[in-house]
Amino acid sequence: MLGLMMDMPLLVSSLLRHAAANHAEVEIVSRTVEGPVHRYTYADAHRRAQRMANALTALGVQPGDRIGTIAWNGYRHYEVWFGTSGMGAVCHTMNPRLHPDQIAYLLNHAEDRYVFVDLTFLPLIEQAAPRAPALQGVVVMTDRAHMPDTTLANAICYEELLDGQGDAFEWPVFDENTASSLCYTSGTTGHPKGVLYSHRATLLHSYAIAMPSMMCLSDRESVLPVVPMFHANAWGIPYAATMTGAKQVMPGPLLDGKSLWEMLDGEKVTFSAGVPTIWHGLLAYMRENGKRLDSMQRMVIGGSAAPRSMIEALDREFGIEARHGWGMTEMSPVGAINTLKPWMLDLPEAEQPDILAKQGRPPFGVEMMIEGDDGTPQPHDGVAQGELKVRGPWVCRAYFKNEGAEAHRDGWFGTGDVATVDADGYMQIVDRKKDMIKSGGEWISSIDLEDLAMRHPDIAQAAVIGIAHPKWDERPLLLVTAAPGRNPQRNEVLQFLESKVAKWWVPDEMIVVDSFPIGGTGKILKTDLRETYRDFRFP
Ligand code: ADP
Repeated sequence: MLGLMMDMPLLVSSLLRHAAANHAEVEIVSRTVEGPVHRYTYADAHRRAQRMANALTALGVQPGDRIGTIAWNGYRHYEVWFGTSGMGAVCHTMNPRLHPDQIAYLLNHAEDRYVFVDLTFLPLIEQAAPRAPALQGVVVMTDRAHMPDTTLANAICYEELLDGQGDAFEWPVFDENTASSLCYTSGTTGHPKGVLYSHRATLLHSYAIAMPSMMCLSDRESVLPVVPMFHANAWGIPYAATMTGAKQVMPGPLLDGKSLWEMLDGEKVTFSAGVPTIWHGLLAYMRENGKRLDSMQRMVIGGSAAPRSMIEALDREFGIEARHGWGMTEMSPVGAINTLKPWMLDLPEAEQPDILAKQGRPPFGVEMMIEGDDGTPQPHDGVAQGELKVRGPWVCRAYFKNEGAEAHRDGWFGTGDVATVDADGYMQIVDRKKDMIKSGGEWISSIDLEDLAMRHPDIAQAAVIGIAHPKWDERPLLLVTAAPGRNPQRNEVLQFLESKVAKWWVPDEMIVVDSFPIGGTGKILKTDLRETYRDFRFP
């Protein structure tokens, strides 16, 4: 017997329509590429997204067409998101730090018809666009006054495109399983693979991440996603913030500690999310300048392992709750966020960080399984480790154009991460499979060593890679950057580690570097480090 409830599809357009009707006056504040800070409301955003849908229709864009973006977090990017998905087209976000060859590959693979670019990325698209024959035009996301000279064959000014259009657009109703957006994984091995999100997955993910023990989003919050809209949908925050009517603050191109602090403080931001490298910059700025963030309540740190020292510093020095999170582009992207269970709040303060350093518990909607090398499910005892497999309504079931099918087997998605799950349901990433170091037939976790090294007061950031070794296969090499005004010493740091891990885990050498290569999503590029130190030999 079927239930007798209305069958209304879950559509992205309904998020913004709801916000405009119920949170009309709530602000979206953006730092623009042109310079000034721009402010408007959900009511304004809804009008402009409808204009965008009208403009796309006038350009001949059809449902299912892919529309590219290469842009920072800002209000125009937000309008393109909602305008494209809302009308039934697919918003394809691209990472601007990719090489022009890679952008050309993505334009062709996705078969983008138009691409929207911020002024910053004009040189990039000028190189890539001529190699994408299906591309009909490039919309430069600015007004007439700032329109640059360009070699592009068909450059369109964003504000002119919207100018001639009406404020009303009837959002079409269609199957909620229709594709809404497309994001490629960074493709550190082989070509990038496309993850094609659906309206349904996007809305269910929004409900999930807004929950109190996840990001805790509501109309009482002022939310600043530092994580870019081109990195796995800014972790879904622009959608979930819209669903809940939270104020949104978009940092645009300025992501250094000082600029971020100014936005976070000035807009009374209560919740933010980003990768550890971003928070390193913010913490350094606040410490050096004696700044605080009095409105800030919670931060999600994810994308790569949050050092325990960072989680502790945010809590103890600044009174900010740090929530460690884990996810993947393939998971819309949130898979787990860490909060303590009620009984854990009574644990001695020194014990809590051990739990909080784990990657956290899945929300309803994500199931996890640990698969051993022999293919069997491993116990959730916090010890047994294996590949983390996941499933759920916002987990990718196949890549765009069916590439990389081997990750999808028996209804599960293989994450390529090695993890444990404890009896309380807390998942901990041991390492990415490809970053683990095999020494004498045993595995060493680079994440664990990095976390321990970053507890040393002389060290700002750490990365550990495996170096080929004639006897042991591979041995760990520790690379570090110095904390401000400090000078890390090899022997002293290695002794410090020796007191904390098994002797055979201690890296064979430590090298101090000025900085690390950082990828487009703000993570340390281990592939580049492995390449740089390919010929390195231990003394
Ligand atoms: P990529 O890093 O390849 O550009 P994603 O952004 O989708 O693509 O990254 C997903 C991967 O990032 C995960 O599979 C995992 O290896 C890593 N990751 C994400 N969050 C964490 C975390 N909190 N701790 C450790 N690793 C993480």
